[in-house]
Parts: sequence; structure tokens; C-alpha cells
Amino acid sequence: MQNASMLRQCPLLVPQDLHGRVYDGFLSLQDKDFRVRINLPADLQLQNAKIQCSWPLKNALQGYQHILKQRLQHSPNLASFMMELKTILEAALKNTNVLQTPPAPQYYSCLVKDIEDLGWDKLLFVDTDFSTISLKIEDSCGREHLIKLKLNAKYPNEAPDCSIELPVPFAISWTPKNTLKNIYDQVLATLESLKDFWDALDEIDKNTWVLEPEKPTRSATMRRIALGTNVSITIDLDPRHPTMLPECYFLGADHVVNPLKDKLNSNIHLWDPENGLLQNLKDVLEIEFPLRSNLEKADFSMDCGICYAYRLESAIPDQVCDDPRCGQPFHQACLYEWLRGLPSSRQSFNVMYGECPYCNKPITLKLSAKRS
Ligand SMILES: [Zn+2]
Ligand SMILES: [Zn+2]
Repeated sequence: MQNASMLRQCPLLVPQDLHGRVYDGFLSLQDKDFRVRINLPADLQLQNAKIQCSWPLKNALQGYQHILKQRLQHSPNLASFMMELKTILEAALKNTNVLQTPPAPQYYSCLVKDIEDLGWDKLLFVDTDFSTISLKIEDSCGREHLIKLKLNAKYPNEAPDCSIELPVPFAISWTPKNTLKNIYDQVLATLESLKDFWDALDEIDKNTWVLEPEKPTRSATMRRIALGTNVSITIDLDPRHPTMLPECYFLGADHVVNPLKDKLNSNIHLWDPENGLLQNLKDVLEIEFPLRSNLEKADFSMDCGICYAYRLESAIPDQVCDDPRCGQPFHQACLYEWLRGLPSSRQSFNVMYGECPYCNKPITLKLSAKRS
């Protein structure tokens, strides 16, 4: 049975002994044959198998070793492992150019000249076959950014893939006469166009208690900022219009959040694009933003009242008891489990009614898809 499925899976991999402990031959994929030899231990335990790969196979599977090891642990038999191996190899071949002809020598000379023109000090990383390059770039405000480039063998006739953390889409314009310096200059121009956006968010990050994201990337447009005990505001800034009023959402008990919403509506005329984001938020909401360092954790808890943690997987406590004296936050999942376990709770469509685990006042839980 095992041999039959092995034969179907890898017809060119031939058993070398009667016990099926040693296989030698080829793994065929995409019209290529990769030499491979498999030695199983005496007890035929797959997780202790030794797989000897020829150099091209080893090269193709580079970076996939941990997945292979894991598959080896979990595959029920050799035939199903070989099937997994083929799938992984297929994916690996798609991601490398191992089967493509290596670049012409001009590729390397051209690239080295490009890097020389740009300055070696800007080069952060280059891989062994000169196909992946990372460049360091600093904008006029001293913020450092990283450009990741993936070049193919036809460089510079074809544009490299360029990835950089930006809040806006970015595509390089490219002609075969272009060099790395052109990419660098194009990225720099884009960075300068986003200066006001990052200035505004850097000021927020420095002068408020940002709850989310924990480590904002340069592409993040959103911040959830603590306003007081169990109340926060989420702003989503338009990277192209960072001085305009951002989208704002409040999170907290109604009696705290509603007055803030009213202030936002009635003071909207105070918003002055000349004043900067933080100052405008202060003026419009008529508040000061608390700093994390100024607050004792005990009197400023944002943690879930059920699991006592702030983060549950990626979720934050976004359900709040509406009773003015309570205002305790909970994770949606924690509150759901809690209410579900109580006979006094009831559910109607996607709303659950029950009692707050803290103050026993009525609490409602809207079951929604997980916030992204
Ligand atoms: Zn919780
Ligand atoms: Zn409560």
C-alpha cells in the first residue's frame, strides 16, 4: 500500500532495500529531476528520517527547512511527506530564479556601478546572488526609512520590485536607462510629500498615550489614544491631507463619550489647519491628553475586567459597561463567554443581554465580526 502510493507520487524514487528504509532516485517537478536519497531509521519513524538532497534541490529549498522539518514530524507516512515536499518545492521554485538562466555578467557590473553612484553607505543589505537589495533612506526630518528592492535578471531593462512602508500607494516610474539613484530620488520625493503627515503623528506619539498600534509603522494612519479611565479616541489621518480633521471614533461608556462627541460637533469651527493635529484635537475636544508616564496604572486601567489583560491575541477591550459608576472595559470574547455561562443572560439575533460582571447592572454586547 505504502509502496504503491510512493510509486504514484515519485515514480523515479526507487526502494534500495527490502524493508523500505532506503530510497534513492529523483523527484520530478516542472520537467526537472532533482536527485534525492532518503534513509529511514530501523523503526521507520519518519521524524528521524535523513533526507539527502542534491545541490540544486538544497539550493531551491533554502529557507524552507523549518517547514520541511515540521512536515516531517506530522506526515503520517513517507508518501504523504513526499507530496508535501513537492508542494513546498513548487512554491520555492516560484519564489527563486533557480531554474532561470543566471543573469548576464553585465547585470552585476551595472548593479555595482549603480550602487557606487548612489553611495555604498546607503546600502544596508544585499543577498548572495545580488537579487535582493535593501537601501537606507533618510528624509529631511531625519526619519529613517527602508527601501526593499527585488531585481530580476533583466535589470535594468525591467524595473525592480520596490517595497517601502508608506501610507499611500507607491509605484516607481522606470525606463531601462534608469538606475538605483532614480528609485532613491523618487522615494525621497514621496517621503518629502508625506512630511506633514509623519510630523503630525510623531507629535501624537510623543505627547499622548497611544494604545494602538503598539509599535506604529510608517504606513499606519490610525492611532487609538487614551483620554482617561476607560475612554479613548481613535483617529484615522488622511496622509494626503494631514492638517484636516481626521476621522474620529470614541470608545468608552456613553456618559463619557457623548459629551466628547457633542464638543467635537459644536467646536468643529475651531479647527485650524495652521495649528497642528494635536493642538486642534485639544481645542476642539477641550481636553488635555494624559501621558502614560504621568499615570499610575491602578487609576488608569484599560485592561479587561475578566482576563485582566489588555491584549487578547490581537483584540483590545472594546466593550464597556455603560453604568457611570462602573465603566469597566472587557474583551468582546471574554464578555461573550461570561454572559453565555449565566442563565440570566439572553441573546436576540446578534445582541446579548446580561449583567456586568463588575456592577451587576444590565450590559449589552453586540456580537460583531472581529475588528481589523
Ligand atoms: Zn479579556
Ligand atoms: Zn459595570
